[in-house]
Amino acid sequence: EIFKLTSFLSLSLQAKMSRSVQAQRLEGTDKNIWVEFVKLAATYSTVNLGQGFPDFPPPDFLKEAFVRALSGENHMLHQYTRAFGHPPLVKILAQFFGKLLGRDLDPMTNVMVTVGAYQALFCCFQAFVEEGDEVIIIEPFFDCYEPMVKMAGGTPVFVPLRPKAPKDGKLMSSADWQLDPAELASKFSERTKAIILNSPNNPLGKVFSRGELELIADLCVKHDVLCISDEVYEWLVYDGKEHIRIASLRGMWDRTVIIGSAGKTFSATGWKVGWTVGPNRLLQHLRTVHQNSVYHCATVAQEAVAQGFQRELELYGKPDSYFVQLPKELQRKRDWLVQSLDAVGMNPIVPEGTYFLVADISKFKSDVPDVPDSDEPYDSRFAKWMVKNKGLAAIPLSAFYSGAHKNNYNHFIRFCFAKEEATLKAANDILQKWKQEKNSP
Ligand code: PMP
Repeated sequence: EIFKLTSFLSLSLQAKMSRSVQAQRLEGTDKNIWVEFVKLAATYSTVNLGQGFPDFPPPDFLKEAFVRALSGENHMLHQYTRAFGHPPLVKILAQFFGKLLGRDLDPMTNVMVTVGAYQALFCCFQAFVEEGDEVIIIEPFFDCYEPMVKMAGGTPVFVPLRPKAPKDGKLMSSADWQLDPAELASKFSERTKAIILNSPNNPLGKVFSRGELELIADLCVKHDVLCISDEVYEWLVYDGKEHIRIASLRGMWDRTVIIGSAGKTFSATGWKVGWTVGPNRLLQHLRTVHQNSVYHCATVAQEAVAQGFQRELELYGKPDSYFVQLPKELQRKRDWLVQSLDAVGMNPIVPEGTYFLVADISKFKSDVPDVPDSDEPYDSRFAKWMVKNKGLAAIPLSAFYSGAHKNNYNHFIRFCFAKEEATLKAANDILQKWKQEKNSP
């Protein structure tokens, strides 16, 4: 019996794996800001202005389209559809973006549907980047660009938007954050395969001007570089600003993949419907990644998004269009949060687009003392302290910078203002109370 037991134990010890299991390409990509901060918000926050999603419902016409698709006669909507996009959706996207770009688009070859913009990004990096390729990333950036480039074997090359002091007495604007043209040009070399552009930009809300886009486009053409253009916030621009599509600039259509998201467009982030638009010579490689990874996206959600776009095409530019109404509503929310933060001295950087707003926490530093020599950037400790002690969740700006640059921008936090009035009021109450406590002896 003892013999049996010992041989069983030694066998089970041998059966335990001892070899390293992690693929080399995952090296250094295991930490994720959203996993960490979403958990903190769920545990401690009473008011969550952290992760980017609306706390109001999508428009009725979209929800109704989903219900119709789900419970209607056509039971095939519960089955697989075309791998590269449900035909009604790619058709309407081709029509819609064809109109915006002023070119004829083929639904089957110039459009591909993805599991959110996230998968569209993943397909691009996997399809285009190989070992040793460099990809230029403009800081601050949506954090997943860096690990996705690395997982594809590429090297991210960072170039920062540099803040200029605003005019006297004025609040800083996201437009005050600009690329230095010489610095940008110095990042392009024969190793550069692609640049990733995100306009309107998360987290700053910067909407790149025509001049800035032309600067980037000229460098792409000169160095024969691809442009991955993340335009998920394309409809969220304020103060009459225009969202310019870099693919519409000279020489750019042929080298650009446009990425969009129904999550942001129709306030339904949980549906995870995204898309890519571009020339077939680029999209054919995205299709290869797609067919060898997720293969296919949820049919019912695609059907509902197709109907949403059908409505928006009919109402294009009219006051009833959701793409006209949503930015109007969000601009009011932006102005409200700007005013609320300004009143307590958490200086806001007024965003020209997106539903994010970055604010300067310098005046609140005395409440959360610095820990010298800590590895963690100050704004990250501040955001954690704030959610635990004040119940208000936000995201540290340093999360949107590469490791080497995190500490240059460590006194800002990002708020999401795609929230119900009551949520924004509750945030305001927390900030006002905090300010009063600071002022009382
Ligand atoms: N790009 C940017 C700039 C984003 O902010 C987000 C979502 N926060 C995404 C892509 C991903 O979008 P989706 O939810 O459609 O995957």
